[in-house]
Formats: sequence, C-alpha cells, structure tokens
Amino acid sequence: MRRFDDRVVLVTGAASGIGRATSERLATEGASLFCVDVQQEAVTQLVNDLRALGATAEWRLCDVSDDAQVDAAVAACVERFGKLDVLCNVAGILRFDHAHEIRTADWNRLMAVNVNGTFFMCRAALPHLLASRGNIVNVSSTAALSGQPWAAAYSATKGAVLALTRTLAIDYVKQGVRVNAVCPGDITTPIHNAFALPEGANPKLLRRVMSPMGSGRPEHVAGVIAMLASEDGAFITGEDVRIDGGTLS
Ligand code: NAD
Repeated sequence: MRRFDDRVVLVTGAASGIGRATSERLATEGASLFCVDVQQEAVTQLVNDLRALGATAEWRLCDVSDDAQVDAAVAACVERFGKLDVLCNVAGILRFDHAHEIRTADWNRLMAVNVNGTFFMCRAALPHLLASRGNIVNVSSTAALSGQPWAAAYSATKGAVLALTRTLAIDYVKQGVRVNAVCPGDITTPIHNAFALPEGANPKLLRRVMSPMGSGRPEHVAGVIAMLASEDGAFITGEDVRIDGGTLS
C-alpha cells in the first residue's frame, strides 16, 4: 500500500517503540517523515534507517513539553517540506506510584509531556493542517478507559488526551481536519524499562492490564495509526480505537 505518497507526516516520540514503528510504517507507505524526539542518537539512527529504505526523512531534537521548541519544530518541518498533512503525537512518559505518594514534580512532568506536549503540537500544527485538510492521531492509553493500578497521574494525562481529541475533532470538523486517538494496552516497548512497581504493590492487580492474547507489538499500534491517518479513515473523527488484545473486552 502507498496511502501516504506525497504526504508529509510529523511523528513525535519517533526514536523508540510505537513512534519508531509508526515512522517506519508510514515511510513504507510513501510518506515523507519529520521525526522528533529528545533522544538524538536513536532518532538519527531511525532517520538513517528510513533513508536506507528509500524514504525521505528528517529529524529534529524537540522536547514536546517546551512550546517554543514545538513551534520551532513544526516551522522547520513546513520549511523543509512545504506543508504538513499528518501529525502523530506519540511521545509520552509513564511512571507508577501509589497515588498518595506521587510527588508534585512527577505529576507535573507527566502532565507537561503527555498533555501539554500533545496540545502544543496540535496548536502549532493546526494552521498547516487546515491548509492541507490533514489530520491528527494522538496516542492515549487503555489507562484512560479503565482503572489501572498505580497510574493515577498517567491515566489522568491519557484521559486528558482523549478529551482533547474529541474536542478538537468537533472544533475543526467543518474545516476538514480530522482528529483521532488510539488507546494501546500492553505493548512491548522500552517504556516498560522504567516500569517499577511501587513498594508494597500487589502484583495480582497487574492482571487487570494483561491481555489474554499476550503483549502486543509496536507494529500492531502503527498499523491502526496508519489506517486512521490515511484515506481509509476519511469518515472517522473524534474516535478512539482500543488496541489491547481484548484486555477490556
Ligand atoms: P517508548 O519509551 O519506547 O517511546 C516514547 C518516546 O517518546 C521515546 O523515544 C522518548 O524519547 C520520547 N519522549 C519522551 N519524552 C519526550 C519529550 N518530552 N519530547 C519528545 N519526545 C519524548 O514508549 P512507547 O511505549 O512507544 O510509548 C509511546 C506512546 O504510547 C506513549 O505516549 C505511551 O504513553 C503510549 N502507550 C504505550 C503503551 C505501552 O504499553 N507501550 C500503552 C499505552 C500507551
């Protein structure tokens, strides 16, 4: 499939996991990629890999929680490619704590990256997406849909991403810009390297987040993001697609 020929796509969190798989999938389908992340070595490696496949790809360091960096990244993308068709907000961070022990700095950092970062990117991209009648795919989580242990801060951020998605979808529906979200469940990526159960946590509660199909792969999420961002998703907006191997079924 070449659903993204002549399409320019900006992917945040592109250096790893779901962002990397999304970049690879869209590049394989013909997209020109603008890959942003905070991990320089990994994002340059990705871009080199994409170019080796014959794709057009650029990278830029950008902390999505910094609105000036976000504005500059979107401007650089449009300067390089002349337009923007699709924004994939994949960058995100995770940590687990007992809610009564969450430090204010940790709460604020999760909000800054997962919520502010998603909003800043949408705000900077929307003028260009209005011009191209493009679309946005945000990465939320099943943590936004059901109670998950030790994830008070993370689930609050992902619930905010869903609310933002639905609101933007309605705000811009008449102007031809679609906004959707995906809600992955347990996907094997490096985000789990930072996974540490808080002290005294009962591991039996983890069953709530485990899929009867086993853990998913980043490619499972990338394929759905590609569908939503493509013409195959032309009549879908304000939607969130659960990709959790039946965990919440
Ligand atoms: P990952 O850690 O492999 O990738 C996250 C990427 O985001 C990394 O490359 C990281 O450098 C980047 N990033 C982090 N902070 C950033 C910042 N401030 N600015 C720019 N980039 C930043 O993790 P992943 O599992 O691929 O996660 C991708 C998204 O999927 C996240 O939003 C995460 O919350 C969401 N998600 C993951 C799972 C899962 O099980 N893996 C489940 C549900 C939702």
